[in-house]
Amino acid sequence: MNEIKMVDLKGQYDKIKSEIDSAIQQVIDTTAFINGPAVQEFQKALEKYLGVKHVIPCANGTDALQVAMMGLHMQPGDEVITTSFTFIATAEVIALLGLTPVLVDVDPDTFNIDPEAIRKAITPKTKAIVPVHLFGQTADMEAIMQIAEEHNLYVIEDTCQAIGAEFTFSDGTTRQAGTIGHASGMSFFPSKNLGCYGDGGAIFTNDDALAQQLRVVVNHGMVVRYYHDFVGVNSRLDSIQAAVLKVKLGYLDEYIKARQKAAAFYDKAFANHPKLKTPVTAPFTTHVYHQYTLVTKDLDRDELQKFLTSKNVPAMIYYPVPMHLQKAYQDPRYKEGDFPVTEHLSKHVISLPMHTELDEEQLKFITEAVLEFANR
Ligand SMILES: *Cc1c(COP(=O)(O)O)cnc(C)c1O
Repeated sequence: MNEIKMVDLKGQYDKIKSEIDSAIQQVIDTTAFINGPAVQEFQKALEKYLGVKHVIPCANGTDALQVAMMGLHMQPGDEVITTSFTFIATAEVIALLGLTPVLVDVDPDTFNIDPEAIRKAITPKTKAIVPVHLFGQTADMEAIMQIAEEHNLYVIEDTCQAIGAEFTFSDGTTRQAGTIGHASGMSFFPSKNLGCYGDGGAIFTNDDALAQQLRVVVNHGMVVRYYHDFVGVNSRLDSIQAAVLKVKLGYLDEYIKARQKAAAFYDKAFANHPKLKTPVTAPFTTHVYHQYTLVTKDLDRDELQKFLTSKNVPAMIYYPVPMHLQKAYQDPRYKEGDFPVTEHLSKHVISLPMHTELDEEQLKFITEAVLEFANR
């Protein structure tokens, strides 16, 4: 059996090596390393794939979220509602811009932000909502857009983990994750579902004026060359990364299917197990399984992780510490016990290997190892 990895980028590369190598070589041959044609080509291809008007490439997913907030002219003191159960970047950029993160709890089944909790957290200072499409399924965007409309708020989707997930509205129309809110931040970090071979990111929006603004923000606030209208940042997707992404975008649907197939294998193996709760997909979204995350019950999660490690099965805890309990984000407004669902999840979740190259032999080995521990 091949070594089991949390993410197998080498196995994935080996299958598309000639295409990737020639795409990279082409950039080197033309030396158009920054803003070369590969960047435009990828941007256009992604706009088409997502059915979104504008993709604005940038340096990484964290920048994408920050740039979106800058482009929407959010001001220090503005309150931004987001989830207490996410990767730190979401809260980080809010804090860095001097905005006030307002945390709310998540749904125990989907791990995504709870719309009712958003409603309760709104104050006259609230400016935006940042739903995170955690682990590969979308938050309840219809409910969230409804709340935003009622209260005149911006919605910035954190789509870093969910590219390709599809949201269905109650009238039956569907939209890609990241194309529903006013803007959306995306990461092309290598291990993400559409990952490059370094850092990369993008902002998505359907708003023409905002798109223009975002292109200025990522380019030093420069409207006309060497004339700077406001303080921007330098955040670019380089041409080599764009060339890699253009090739991989052609395989994204196939990659999503491979992840869903692995997830279905796990689901079947753990179905109705009293100690293992398999992921629950909300009825309004597809799941692209950036992570396959179990919630354990009546078993020692950390001991399970150790047991799996001893069998050379990697497993990760996403995320062990909720936002409000992080040292850097201590805030007198929040204390332990405030977000019971998030706190429970942080103590009981465990993510199993999930990538495009898992084969049946590996999946069988992983599930047997998990069950051996859970059944003893
Ligand atoms: C990966 C990730 C980010 C940050 O992306 P980078 O490209 O690493 O900056 C932000 N939010 C979430 C939910 C992520 O998973």
